[in-house]
Amino acid sequence: MQTKLNPQTQLQDTKVVFTRTKPGRSTTKESPEWVRISAASAITLGFKSGRFAREFDFGGINLLLNYDDGCRSDCAYCGLARTRPGDYEDKSFIRVEWPLVETAPLVERMHLLESKLTRLCISMVTNPYAFRDTCTITDSIVQNVRTPLSILVAPPTLNRTKLEEFKARGVDMIGIGLDAVTETLFRSLRTDVPAGGSGLSWTQYWKIVSEARRIFGPWKVNCHTVVGLGETDFDLVEMFDKLVGQEIFPYLFCFNPEPDSRMGATPKATITRWRRIQLAKYLIEEKGYRVKDFMFDSDGSLTNIKTPSPNELIAAANDGIAFMTNGCPGPNGEPGCTRPYGSYKPSESYRDYPFLPSTTDLQRIKLELDLEGLTQ
Ligand code: SF4
Repeated sequence: MQTKLNPQTQLQDTKVVFTRTKPGRSTTKESPEWVRISAASAITLGFKSGRFAREFDFGGINLLLNYDDGCRSDCAYCGLARTRPGDYEDKSFIRVEWPLVETAPLVERMHLLESKLTRLCISMVTNPYAFRDTCTITDSIVQNVRTPLSILVAPPTLNRTKLEEFKARGVDMIGIGLDAVTETLFRSLRTDVPAGGSGLSWTQYWKIVSEARRIFGPWKVNCHTVVGLGETDFDLVEMFDKLVGQEIFPYLFCFNPEPDSRMGATPKATITRWRRIQLAKYLIEEKGYRVKDFMFDSDGSLTNIKTPSPNELIAAANDGIAFMTNGCPGPNGEPGCTRPYGSYKPSESYRDYPFLPSTTDLQRIKLELDLEGLTQ
């Protein structure tokens, strides 16, 4: 990016230029000159026609690095996994399409629509060029768009110095896609492929979590956690407690099987389990509950919540926030990254809501939650 754009400038009059090319690399549609964006982002920015099933303000723009050889990792549940059949460019990610667009016009559109945007995010992938390219794209965004920027990092490609560089370039928050909440599960699902970094190791992921927390500060780091990969309720609750204790946001995702991935035939969590985990996380994050306030059976399934009054749980369920999409906040603390359809198909009911659930939604949610069964 060479110049700041004038807010009055029309799209067709602006030109954002990337001058760096990778030595010895082809001229294919790779980052930083090209990126993929979520389908919802493409609709919001006018790259794609379409509308959401229900009307709501949407301003969270998610970018994903793009390489001919894709992501070097091979996670069993991920749509981008190296061994999942198909060209990388056509692969879905968290079950939604990610159309490929040129970065320069994308930044121009984000600049022009800045007042509608709530959060921007660059998702790295495990690739030797990922850090350099993320820096290049970050610079062009930060120089032209004031909306806060997160990076969903690829820990195998990073170290402390690189995280400090992100901070110095104006990145606001760091996300770490931990996904699997126990080391055993992480090791079994996240195949370790050498990637120009130190590989997918639980230790490296936590090193990056700690460094990011130190560099970016309290509530500026988040860990993505997934319900339905084989963990127990206890594993999840224990992880929420640990992260909140370190002033790190746990963000919740519902496993949503990607066709042809190694876990393509694994069913997602039942709706009742999912709703209860959403509520448990909310209680830990917002109401001061700790692991000791939850009871589990011998399989680690949540059986009871110790509460001073069942009314407290009813009130927590009624305010609806527990069931909204977890994501980095917008400029004024409002939900910023709301990823519609990240955890469910457009044809399914919402697993997480990109808006505050309506009264009708809440009636349904409470049936799904079966709160009485948790307080007897
Ligand atoms: S929640 Fe934050 S880190 Fe995760 S995808 Fe959204 S903006 Fe990126």
